[in-house]
Amino acid sequence: MSRTITKAGSRLDVGRLRDHNEDDLGCRQASSDEEAQIFGELFVLADGMGGHLGGEVASRLAIETILTTYYASSQADIAAGLAQAILLANRLIYTRSSGDRDLSGMGTTCVCSVVHGDKLYIAHVGDSRAYLLRDRSMEQITEDHSWVEEQVRYGLLTPEEARVHPMRNVITRALGNAPDVAVDQSIHPILAGDILLICSDGLTTALDDEAIKEVLISRPQPQAAVDKLVEMANDAGGPDNIGIIVVYVEKVVPYGSNGESDPSEQRPKKGWTKFLPFS
Ligand code: CA
Repeated sequence: MSRTITKAGSRLDVGRLRDHNEDDLGCRQASSDEEAQIFGELFVLADGMGGHLGGEVASRLAIETILTTYYASSQADIAAGLAQAILLANRLIYTRSSGDRDLSGMGTTCVCSVVHGDKLYIAHVGDSRAYLLRDRSMEQITEDHSWVEEQVRYGLLTPEEARVHPMRNVITRALGNAPDVAVDQSIHPILAGDILLICSDGLTTALDDEAIKEVLISRPQPQAAVDKLVEMANDAGGPDNIGIIVVYVEKVVPYGSNGESDPSEQRPKKGWTKFLPFS
């Protein structure tokens, strides 16, 4: 078990063509060693859709529900806690949109990332993305749930054609469209020096991966990297709302290296309950 020290930056920007923002995000860094040990740090981004107010309501509901539910989870397992939080968000958005004509059809993408010990947990639905950059090499660690991504997989479009394709906004999975949803999850080892990027398609439509990578590598502070990416996406036309979270992994400190004991051994094995508001 290791403790990870991160530094994060984030920003939401409406872009140049839209008149309101349907992206949303939330970050919760551990407030205590105990919280870090149990839950780690959670970073969530959502890109809402649906006419009128729907998109922004859906993305806000996703962020709020996931942040609260995850940290109230009684699940001992990080991945299970994340899945539970996302499924509840899906259910709440679906119920709300079914009961309100103004919000009918609303939905949202969502990318959740938990940094816990020396691991990175990713859970996502939709076409917002997570990338992991290590040693100057940047890899997309989520697979878009989109029509163009399916065409790329079938060999019918190249990734570059997909990026500018007129149907690039058509997603094949979202929160809020049905009572249940399939959540993709993955776990990755993390090292000091790694950079995590979570973003909506407002960034990846405007800039290619190479341009994004150069900014992340050249800025010593995550907030400076985020601000530069927003500026460049807007200079490239700002075709959509831009939502970005950047996390720099500064240190992965094994417990015991400073004479500390491993707090996972101190965790109560029995009778460990946290209030769970929903079931
Ligand atoms: Ca978008």
